[in-house]
Amino acid sequence: MSPSYPLFINGKFIETAEKQNIINPSTGKVIAEASMASLKDVELALAGARQAFDSGPWPHFSLVQRKDFILKVAQGILDNAAGLAQLETQNTGKPIKETTFMDIPSSAKAFEFAANNFMSYLTHEELNVSEDVKSRLIREPMGVVVLIVPWNYPLLITCWKLASALACGNTVILKPSSITPITALEMGKIIHTAGLPAGVVNIINGSGSKIGEELCADKRVDMISFTGSNETGKQILQYASKNVKKMIMELGGKSASLVFDDVDLEVAVNSCLASIFLNQGQMCTAMSRIFVQEGIYDKFLADFVEKAGRIRLGLADDFETQMGPLINDAQRKKVIAYIEKAKTEGAKLVCGGKIPENAELKNGYFFEPTVLADVNVHSHIFKEEVFGPVVLINKFSGPDEAAILANSVDFGLAACIWSKDLSMAEKLAGKMDAGIVWINTYGMFYNQLPYGGFKQSGFGKELGREGLLEYTRLKNVILDQSADGKPLVNYWYGF
Ligand code: NAD
Repeated sequence: MSPSYPLFINGKFIETAEKQNIINPSTGKVIAEASMASLKDVELALAGARQAFDSGPWPHFSLVQRKDFILKVAQGILDNAAGLAQLETQNTGKPIKETTFMDIPSSAKAFEFAANNFMSYLTHEELNVSEDVKSRLIREPMGVVVLIVPWNYPLLITCWKLASALACGNTVILKPSSITPITALEMGKIIHTAGLPAGVVNIINGSGSKIGEELCADKRVDMISFTGSNETGKQILQYASKNVKKMIMELGGKSASLVFDDVDLEVAVNSCLASIFLNQGQMCTAMSRIFVQEGIYDKFLADFVEKAGRIRLGLADDFETQMGPLINDAQRKKVIAYIEKAKTEGAKLVCGGKIPENAELKNGYFFEPTVLADVNVHSHIFKEEVFGPVVLINKFSGPDEAAILANSVDFGLAACIWSKDLSMAEKLAGKMDAGIVWINTYGMFYNQLPYGGFKQSGFGKELGREGLLEYTRLKNVILDQSADGKPLVNYWYGF
């Protein structure tokens, strides 16, 4: 019998009547079943989180006590690292090498970072406004925070949000994607073992369309931190507008790499391959548009295509596998439809574009790394997020044109610049309409640096000081110390 994953509400593990089969995208087989939250479970979670914030011990623990709990969660992730990597790989199809060396250790590090830094970030500031007036700016927790997470980095994004929210003293309701809830539900066990008080963390797997509105519109929720698609993000903004609340929106992307003539070609090609084909291109920061300067365009394209064709597709739990399956058949169909449309809009297919023929992979949702060249800048694939292993490679002449091309989409999540001319690259970075710009590297996330996009890629930050402080509210306490009550307002009515 496949394992069953309960919800975690108010300190209790709850099996529900409705279950969802959890599929391994490498094989198409059911590997587990997960409880699905009903509206009754949402109510339990809302009441539990509210009560734990309003009357529970969590917000009143000393910072040192809170730090100890958060470090215990980090240790719990490390103690279970190998198992978590396997579960993440089985549930998402992400190659085991990626989950083992990236997702799981980075998840633990997010907790370690929050634990080791929140005290210095949450310090109160005192301002002398005038001789007699001073103000104290006080960082308080937001209250009850709903965390909504997508399927592409289920544990890592959970931990980014959860670590910051807890460090700031909030209670939370976490809703993982119902496609990939397993590692988030495993976090329930780790949190329970770490001894956090009941109701501080509630984990409810469920269908967004069935429970999303009740969860996000409820007055008892003070903040929503959402990562996912623009379509869902807009719906959540509507729900939240029924009762005003603070939001973080981390949405989609259509990021660009700009590769200049003077680069080390081998390094640029290798990094550009990883920047689109890691996690099968299902990354919000995927560099799905590569623009190459005219002088090296032909050579870059030839080398890129030759190497893309050598990426080893395989079952995700094999350490030799470099590219696993897409998350499900619907996602693969979406990718295929984008490629077919791009061809009718003038793009040249120069690599991949097919389901692989390998018999071992026939039951999974695999797709070849795909390269399109000479892509029409007005076509759908140029502007819209595909979220799969598909990259466009076009030409540019100089920095001005490169900036125009990179910025010519509605998204503004990330960009890469590849050049030895660092002064030009830094100047160009200033022109990029993107929240993160990498120069001569890709995808380096640092817990100490803020992460988040511009334009339709959303607002608010995760990580770093700024990301952590998102989960607080700032209170301004003004004290007038003048001995004779000088301020005009004190005598306004002449009494
Ligand atoms: P999605 O929008 O379909 O789902 C995201 C989450 O929202 C899931 O937990 C889902 O169950 C939930 N949801 C769906 N409908 C809901 C509703 N009506 N109310 C409340 N919750 C609802 O996104 P996805 O397909 O899981 O993830 C892929 C998307 O996420 C891509 O667009 C990608 O770019 C984006 N993403 C962005 C970032 C970032 O940091 N900017 C990071 C990762 C992924």
